[in-house]
Amino acid sequence: MTEEPPQVEEPRQAGEPRETVGDLLRDGIERLRRSNSETARLDAELLLADAVGLGRTALLAHPELPVSAGAAVRYRAGIERRSTGEPVAYIRGSKEFFGLVFAVDRRVLIPRPETERLVELAEAEGRRRRAAMRPGSDRRLRIVDVGTGSGAVIVAVAASLRRLGALDDIELTGLDISDDALDLARENAVGHALAEVIAFEPADLLDRGAAPGGEGPHDRPSFDLVLANLPYVRHDALPGLPIAASFEPPLALDGGEDGLIVIERLLAQLPAALATDGLALLEIGADQGVAIVELVAQVLPGWRCAVELDLAGLPRVAAISRS
Ligand code: GLN
Repeated sequence: MTEEPPQVEEPRQAGEPRETVGDLLRDGIERLRRSNSETARLDAELLLADAVGLGRTALLAHPELPVSAGAAVRYRAGIERRSTGEPVAYIRGSKEFFGLVFAVDRRVLIPRPETERLVELAEAEGRRRRAAMRPGSDRRLRIVDVGTGSGAVIVAVAASLRRLGALDDIELTGLDISDDALDLARENAVGHALAEVIAFEPADLLDRGAAPGGEGPHDRPSFDLVLANLPYVRHDALPGLPIAASFEPPLALDGGEDGLIVIERLLAQLPAALATDGLALLEIGADQGVAIVELVAQVLPGWRCAVELDLAGLPRVAAISRS
């Protein structure tokens, strides 16, 4: 069987000159290299694939394909935005995370690959705890994602528990202090058919009474699993991050003087929010493995804190529980 080349285009106007995939990629890569993008080729490929509505592999296989004037204009606009340092994910409006596609924009942090470790640990823990529940008991497993942002963590956890057929009897909540983030997180839950499954609510970390627009003080439920990828970059390290990070909300990155200010506030809230045998899984910076153990010892004396490594072998998730 011979393969049809993919159709890029509306019908061509007579006499209209057409640039090809190959031309546009070459120009775009050059433009991005001049602006010091370290990933010029990948960025240009992603932006062109997006502009013409084809996969990257199809584009690379067919550099001779003509591209419509409209798609070329969209592509060039994307290249210009990228050349100012804006992340490709914001330009495309989406980012893959844990095998799923999430809507992202400047309201939220772009999900990072290292955060997939947090999802894996949460999924394994959720599955284990649900399997241990007595059949027929009316107990529900409660999982909360604090500072949910785009909702990527809680949506990915819910989607993988659903795949395993383990979603019944689990209550999932995403909390954030930013209403803008909550709007986008709800969109992402809708996009993955999980809107009925995950509740998104405003809260200052775990404190739903304190958030503007929050429900007001009420009995806090006891969460079995508390997940969080809070801001943990040291304030003075922010200017040293790749320029793309300067487009992201500082609220999602800035961890104060030692990077652990926000995490410390969450630790202080855990005794009131975490079930007796509950577990908190908190993403940390690669250089915070020792500091987090010291901080837990100081804020939660007698509690356990184990540090899990990521795929690169670096400290990435603190697993915190009562002894
Ligand atoms: N890993 C992110 C970065 O270094 C930080 C994310 C965070 O603060 N939670 O850009």
